[in-house]
Amino acid sequence: MTTLPTLPKYAFFEGEIVPFSEAKVSVMTHTFNYGTGAFGGVRAYWNDDDRQLHIFRPLDHFKRLLGSAKMLLMSLPYTPEDLTRILVDLLRAENRHEDMYVRPLVYKSDPLIGVRLHDLSEQITMFTIPFGRYIEQEEGAHVGFSSWRRIDDNTIPARGKIVGAYANSAFIKTEAMLNGFDDALVLNEDGHVSEGSAANLFIVRDGVAITPPITSNILEGITRKTIIQLLRDEMDMEVQEREVDKTELYLAEEAFLCGTGVQVCAISRVDHRPVGTGVIGPVVKTLRDLYFKLVRGCCRATRRG
Ligand code: PMP
Repeated sequence: MTTLPTLPKYAFFEGEIVPFSEAKVSVMTHTFNYGTGAFGGVRAYWNDDDRQLHIFRPLDHFKRLLGSAKMLLMSLPYTPEDLTRILVDLLRAENRHEDMYVRPLVYKSDPLIGVRLHDLSEQITMFTIPFGRYIEQEEGAHVGFSSWRRIDDNTIPARGKIVGAYANSAFIKTEAMLNGFDDALVLNEDGHVSEGSAANLFIVRDGVAITPPITSNILEGITRKTIIQLLRDEMDMEVQEREVDKTELYLAEEAFLCGTGVQVCAISRVDHRPVGTGVIGPVVKTLRDLYFKLVRGCCRATRRG
């Protein structure tokens, strides 16, 4: 028997915090029909010692959300700071003492037929739910290369978290799961490695950390940015942002996915081949420790502040 997920108690909807049951849209809503919205995914971690939630990099997340909104020709009357204040109010109202996931969503709200981006109104909504792991095997996932390609900047901008674009991610994720993998790696139209189904990728080769650049049709991940800082500033490692070939994954000493949902997930096998020794390696192990201390508010972002 599957257990039903916990529903939020409240949502920010049409400019105010309302009981969750009142946050409803019409089946004719433009974004529901055409995917013309954008969303975010933020985590707030509960810290048992100071008995509070720590929201991880909310300003960066809301800045990216407003960037996606701009690409979709939306102009919302909110700053990242405004949205952070709304989120704090929402989490206070929700009043849960556990790790939370935050879903803000900007959407074209008119109930009408007609594919376009212009001459439409927009709205923003936000809700929060308790959330644990996104990939169960965070200490060693088996991933496979997808037969699908990652959307291209000239198809649907991959650097925006655009609702319609996530049908691509859904095809990728489900193919991987039905084939017995925990997640997928995806090539872009150039044939280079882009990322996971909903996470960025790093590999370690000859002691150097390598990640596909932002021009490889990746989502410009906030966790990726954090990981680059941690590797450079806390672990004194060289980090290269450069194109990655598929077979580099087969030869890497270590590999991992990172993202708000995925957190830092070691990849132990790719396409039935062990990565390194086939168990979580020292770089990913150290990174995971640093990352979880950081997001729970147990240390500053970097040695250099
Ligand atoms: N790529 C994709 C396609 C994603 O959906 C996500 C999750 N937002 C990421 C990468 C990781 O981004 P972030 O670290 O900002 O959550």
